[in-house]
Amino acid sequence: MLREKTVFGPIHSRRLGNSLGINLLPEEGKLCNFDCIYCECGWNRDGHGDTRLPSAREVRDKLDAMLRRCAAESIAIDSITFSGDGEPTLNPDFAAIIDDTLRLRDRHYPAAQVSVLTNATRADRPDVAAALRRVDNAIMKIDAPTNALAAVINRPAPGYDVARVVESLKAFDGRFVLQTCMLRCSDYDSTQPAVLDGWMDIVRTLRPRRIMVYTVDRATPRPDIEKLSPDTMRRLVQPLLDEGFQIEIYG
Ligand code: SF4
Repeated sequence: MLREKTVFGPIHSRRLGNSLGINLLPEEGKLCNFDCIYCECGWNRDGHGDTRLPSAREVRDKLDAMLRRCAAESIAIDSITFSGDGEPTLNPDFAAIIDDTLRLRDRHYPAAQVSVLTNATRADRPDVAAALRRVDNAIMKIDAPTNALAAVINRPAPGYDVARVVESLKAFDGRFVLQTCMLRCSDYDSTQPAVLDGWMDIVRTLRPRRIMVYTVDRATPRPDIEKLSPDTMRRLVQPLLDEGFQIEIYG
C-alpha cells in the first residue's frame, strides 16, 4: 500500500510527467470518502493508524524547502501534484494550501503546473470549487454513471450522488480534466454499455477540456481486477474521439 510523506518525489507519473507530490492526508494512514476497489492506498479500514492532517503552515514550509532543494540540484518538475493517501479536498486547509502552492510555484518553478487529483465529491463547496478553479489542472474523477455502479467501483461514503457531482461540475464550463478508471472484475465491467453509455453521456454534458482514461497500474485491494489494454480503451472511447473530445489513454 502506498504511504506518502506530506511532500514526496519528484516521481515519474504516467499522466503528469516529473511530478512533485503533495499529500494532504495522514503520512501513515489513508483518509478518503471513497474506498475504490482499485485504490493503490488500499482499503480505508487498513489506513486508520494515523489520522493527523498536515496544517497549511507545515505544507508550505515543507514544499518551500523541497522546491529550493530541487531548484539547487536542477531537478526538473513538470507538475506539483496534490495526490497521496486519500482525497486532498478533505483537508480543511485545502484552499489556503492551494494559494500557498501557487505562490511557491511562481517563485521557484514558474513553468510547472499545479494539478489536483480529486474525486470531485466536494467540488460543490464554494471554497473548494474556487480553489480548484485557480489551479492549472483540476483532475476530477467520475468512473461510474450511476449511484448503483459507483457503489461497486468507488464504494463512496453515504450521501454520494453522481447527479449532484455532475451538476457541480457543470459550473466549471469544461475548464477541468475528467479522469476515469476503466477495469473489469466479477461485478463491474467498464466495457459494458451499462457503464460506458451513461459515462459517455456525462462527458457530452460536461465537455471537459481534457479526459484521462486509465486502468490499474499497481496492486489493488481487490484481487480479481483485470486491467484493460490501451487498444480496448481506445476502441471504447472512439465515438468520443470522433466527436472531437481530447482523450488521453494510459494503459
Ligand atoms: S478516490 Fe482515490 S484515494 Fe480515494 S479510494 Fe478512490 S482511488 Fe483511493
